[in-house]
Amino acid sequence: MVRIDTDEGHGWGECSALPEPSYTDEYAAGAFRVLVDRLAPRLTRRRLDGSAAIVALELLSGVEGQPMAKAAVEMAVLDVECRAQSMSLADRLGVSRRAVPAGAAIGLASPERMAERASELATEGFGRVKLKIRPGHDLALVEAVRTAVPSVEVQVDGNGSYRSADVGVLTAVAAAGVAAIEQPFPTDDVGAAAALVAAVDVPVVADEAAASVADIDRLQSAGALSGVSIKPPRVGGIRTAVAMLDRCAAAGLATTAGGMVESGLGRHALAAVAALDGFTLTGDVSPAGRWLATDPWPDLTLRPGGVVVPDSPGVAPDPDLDILAAHTIRFGEVTGRV
Ligand code: MG
Repeated sequence: MVRIDTDEGHGWGECSALPEPSYTDEYAAGAFRVLVDRLAPRLTRRRLDGSAAIVALELLSGVEGQPMAKAAVEMAVLDVECRAQSMSLADRLGVSRRAVPAGAAIGLASPERMAERASELATEGFGRVKLKIRPGHDLALVEAVRTAVPSVEVQVDGNGSYRSADVGVLTAVAAAGVAAIEQPFPTDDVGAAAALVAAVDVPVVADEAAASVADIDRLQSAGALSGVSIKPPRVGGIRTAVAMLDRCAAAGLATTAGGMVESGLGRHALAAVAALDGFTLTGDVSPAGRWLATDPWPDLTLRPGGVVVPDSPGVAPDPDLDILAAHTIRFGEVTGRV
């Protein structure tokens, strides 16, 4: 969690790096050091006037990579700006929608267990489930969920576990009634992705493989994607995410708003971004209460019509500092005045 204090007020940002460098090469302990040693000192070097969020990202561009750490800074600066103007992040992004459809992911489990989870989620108000699949655990899962809850939209996510020889089985998965197949192949297996794009009508969504507008252009020219999962933390922040969304809309690509494991703060930001016009598939918008027993931040509200788009000033209301302190394992402070 990043807090920025300025003459204009304060703001909070969330870094979504996971404990281990598994799903991405960033990880929490490394991101902490990057934030404290490399990014924060750059911010204290000059005044952030005008569009401070843009200035901040330009200041940070001298540090290579580290998208989740940079996204945390961007979120905090946006929070400062929005609070100072008494506007919500949704207002700032020009969002008019008041709710977005809710989507949840279901970890790999038996077909019976996944069908049961999908039924529960549908009852809770989720209109879409995303099933994690891997070779040998795919078609039966989709069929079980489709049979148990025909009304719910089903997407699948392979997290790069398939190989080019699996195009056939993935084509069968597509035919079983899924709305999208996300990142079935490793990020560098452009050939397999292109073969699947050519074989199926449903969007083949690049997640880990697309971290920038340039990635989208490169993969599209290779015929290796027909959709993109846009996760603001993974791509360096909301500004890049919006640029990617615009590029996808212009190129006729399917899009989904992807989420990380986040607190209510990150979830507030995701709900505002997911409410942008242009997303064609239901995203990963769910309350943080799905995985956090206690949360320093207020959670999203899930209603039958979907997740309510937050309208409080800033990205999210302030956290409960006692809960935050109880969960704090490391703390660093960087000060400066310009
Ligand atoms: Mg994914």
